[in-house]
Amino acid sequence: GLLERPQLRRLLEAFNNHGEETRIVGGAVRNALLGRPVTEVDCATTMLPDVMVRRAHDAGFKPVPTGIDHGTVTVVVDGEPFEVTTLRVDVETDGRYAVVHFGRDFVRDARRRDFTINALSLGLDGKLYDYTDGVADLKERRVRFIGDAHKRIREDFLRIMRFFRFHAEYAEGEPDAEGLEASGIERQGLAILSKERIRHELLKLLVARRAEETLRVLSHYGFLTWLIAGAAEFGRFSRVAAFDKDNPVAIWRLAALAMMVEQDADRLREHLRLSNDEHKKLVTYARLLVVLKTWALPLDASAIRRLVADHGVETLSAVLAAIDGEPSPHINGDALSALERYRSGEESLPAFPLRGADLVERGIPKGPKVGEILGLARQAWLSEGCRTDESYAKDLLERILARA
Ligand code: ATP
Repeated sequence: GLLERPQLRRLLEAFNNHGEETRIVGGAVRNALLGRPVTEVDCATTMLPDVMVRRAHDAGFKPVPTGIDHGTVTVVVDGEPFEVTTLRVDVETDGRYAVVHFGRDFVRDARRRDFTINALSLGLDGKLYDYTDGVADLKERRVRFIGDAHKRIREDFLRIMRFFRFHAEYAEGEPDAEGLEASGIERQGLAILSKERIRHELLKLLVARRAEETLRVLSHYGFLTWLIAGAAEFGRFSRVAAFDKDNPVAIWRLAALAMMVEQDADRLREHLRLSNDEHKKLVTYARLLVVLKTWALPLDASAIRRLVADHGVETLSAVLAAIDGEPSPHINGDALSALERYRSGEESLPAFPLRGADLVERGIPKGPKVGEILGLARQAWLSEGCRTDESYAKDLLERILARA
């Protein structure tokens, strides 16, 4: 199916002449063979980057030099971008980054890749090139290093993370024994990597198909505590993984696995260099976890509305999935369908009908007091059903002023 994509065909046709060869490589070929969706298509080419840029212009494509030092040009064909990279040979490495030279040899380019299932390439004529027995491994659903696993890991320690990430996404059964053993022995090398690179692979692992099983393996071999800088809770992780199976969200899965108390959010931010937004999500999650675990009343539709207003519908859904009614809350059917309506966007909270200006107009001095009173008014409004009619708003204002 890949070669039937019109833009991709045009690219390959323009880039396979004058003695040059360009093929589809890596994840796109792997996923196409597995019948899985292909989101990005990468190509490898014998052309040097400047030649690529010239040829792209001549063919009416738009070349964008996104990583020209490593030989990568993003070629936009009719609005669709493709990453095209000059064939490479690794010459040396410090365990983090390889120094690469450009080459013209597809076999050597395949052998510098990490796993056999990632080293396949596909030519314009439909010929599949498999120099490392990747097709057999795809069929057997196993992730194997190309060449000696220890050596390949020492070239780039991130491959330990990638080994488990690809295993979680593409393999079945236990991880390949040689890769697993080498990962265990070389694991101290992970410490020299940047936290960002580790985070990237870890978050991808968390949303992989068999994330839970793979995390258990990581835990068994002592990796997990280090990766998340703390303890893991598989019970909650499996509930969330089952809940969001079709649309997994990495940050909620991380929360389910690693969040017990609010301080965990700070620890994870530091350890994984999380963004402020991700950190905020974890803090909200922790707070809501406490609220729901100690919730004594039935969780009805009006309670759901309040919780959505205070914590956001995404957080609420994630935490409810994680605790799954244990030990509380007693959630009823009405409440569940209310939650579903908020989640799908079918229902949303109306805008709170009072403004700070309304209070100032009535003699409350500008300053923190205004926010405080508005907050109280909002709580009342939420528990009284979020009415928005003018007479209600007026009445609410009177009541709140009388109390202030
Ligand atoms: P996905 O889209 O699921 O991430 P992918 O195969 O496209 O899968 P990338 O991380 O984008 O994964 O890598 C693209 C290709 O580059 C891989 O298929 C692999 O051949 C090669 N590659 C990437 N990182 C490394 C690495 N650290 N060591 C060796 N080869 C690598």
